[in-house]
Amino acid sequence: MAIERTLAIIKPDAVASGSAGGVITMIEEAGFNIVAMKKAQLTAAQAEGFYHVHSARPFFRDLVDFMTSGPVVLMILEAEDAISRWRELMGPTDAAKAGPDTVRGRFGTNIERNASHGSDAPETAAFETAWFFNCFERV
Ligand code: GDP
Repeated sequence: MAIERTLAIIKPDAVASGSAGGVITMIEEAGFNIVAMKKAQLTAAQAEGFYHVHSARPFFRDLVDFMTSGPVVLMILEAEDAISRWRELMGPTDAAKAGPDTVRGRFGTNIERNASHGSDAPETAAFETAWFFNCFERV
């Protein structure tokens, strides 16, 4: 077990429905330390670069359109095993299949509009946290 940092995004659907506070409460109650946080309107270039691993997927254009459809909340979470623990708290990608005690189950709708993002490995966490936060924005 190691102290890790991971990128969390409250996606446009959850911000638009007024659920950002609910997601942040779940994060804090689960014991994560929020070491960086800001609200942002992503550009297409920022969303395309962030999701570059999915660029060949059929849903890529829809995903970029969704992620740029309104403001997001970007966070870096720190905890022991933060990467897997945040993905567990989010629930599965398809919000329709997520449990009621998960972020996606409570605040998401379907496989695309799923309320939240979390890094899936230490390498992606390093890339993703640096994509959105510089060294002066983390405590
Ligand atoms: P995650 O790690 O659970 O976020 O899932 P992925 O890395 O596989 O996918 C990234 C994001 O793309 C998901 O969180 C969804 O918002 C979206 N997505 C994944 N699969 C699909 C799909 O089949 N259709 C659509 N429209 N969007 C998808």
